Amino acid sequence: MANFKNALIPCQKCGRSIAVKSRDYENGAIQCTHLGCGQINQLTLPYYDERILEGLPEFGRLVYQADPTRVFPLRLGANVVGHSSTCDVSVERLVHGDKCYISRRHCTIEVIFDKWKGRFRYQLRDGASDINSHHYKSSLNGTLLNGYLLQNGEKIDIGDQGLVGLGGKDFFRLETFRIPPRMLESYLMLKPLEPDETQ
Ligand SMILES: [Zn+2]
Repeated sequence: MANFKNALIPCQKCGRSIAVKSRDYENGAIQCTHLGCGQINQLTLPYYDERILEGLPEFGRLVYQADPTRVFPLRLGANVVGHSSTCDVSVERLVHGDKCYISRRHCTIEVIFDKWKGRFRYQLRDGASDINSHHYKSSLNGTLLNGYLLQNGEKIDIGDQGLVGLGGKDFFRLETFRIPPRMLESYLMLKPLEPDETQ
């Protein structure tokens, strides 16, 4: 759950402010303290408004280990990584000897906003959807996370500084993006549950 100090919300019935503490959120409701009201206000769980995403400069990046000046920014949602120009993160053919170990569409990194915690998750999966058939296709040489070879269809969260290996020869370090705490605070939603949110 989001961290927050005591907050004021408007009462659903009388509109006057009520002070809410974390235990009220744990209870899921608070009774209005104003004279002659006493309305039970159901509370939503605190979360961060997704409009915060519109103002962010980036969503994390991959840094090529053999040459850290090569930085590949990630976007929100699915990022296909590989040496094809159809990829969201297009690394060129990186050759060892005369062989490239990275598939055209090698792996997929999904950048997800966790609105409860106010931070990003980075989910790694070997392979990617084919640009024409849309069928999911594994890479030829596999994808590693911190030395572990991902199994077929497996999805794993990459932590900050996690090392993603494409084909066992080329490694990219994930630099996650952390939303500044002061900015997060201003997007924290603390409010009574509206009738249209009750289903
Ligand atoms: Zn009231």
